[in-house]
Amino acid sequence: MELRVINVYPETVSDGFGIRFSVYFAGCSHHCPGCHNPQSWNPHAGELLDGDLSERILSQMEANPLLDGVTFSGGDPLFNPEEFLKFLKRVKERTGLNVWCYTGYVYENLLNDPKREPCLHFIDVLVDGPFKKELLEPRLYFRGSKNQRIIYLKDGRMEHVASPEAGDF
Ligand code: SF4
Repeated sequence: MELRVINVYPETVSDGFGIRFSVYFAGCSHHCPGCHNPQSWNPHAGELLDGDLSERILSQMEANPLLDGVTFSGGDPLFNPEEFLKFLKRVKERTGLNVWCYTGYVYENLLNDPKREPCLHFIDVLVDGPFKKELLEPRLYFRGSKNQRIIYLKDGRMEHVASPEAGDF
């Protein structure tokens, strides 16, 4: 299945700590009630991430010395894990930037998902879990509902969950 891009934000401070380059991918199977962007569920939306678009995105990332990192969101980047993994690897190899990834999947379930688990090894911070409108909390940093966690990964495994106690906020 092809990977398609619905939005690119070359500099944003809304998708993680610091100034980040965000790429939003098409496709999501979670269909959370209250989702902020249901148009993103359609895997055929947006623009095909072909060689040209990949190169344009990578070049923009490399050319901006102000970037603190890259964020992948959607939709759900892990909707199409095989193609996402290829792009993730290229971003890491080419830029070395810190990578955040938003997903509706729960970290513990990803560990037992042979198609998606390999992606964890190229992600530094995973924001996990579906949006639950009954747990909506507008004041949370970088996520919508209280069940979602900002998980620091090391070698594809949880290091710690971001919290004020850990000095993350
Ligand atoms: S995982 Fe995110 S994009 Fe997908 S339905 Fe839930 S809130 Fe929307």
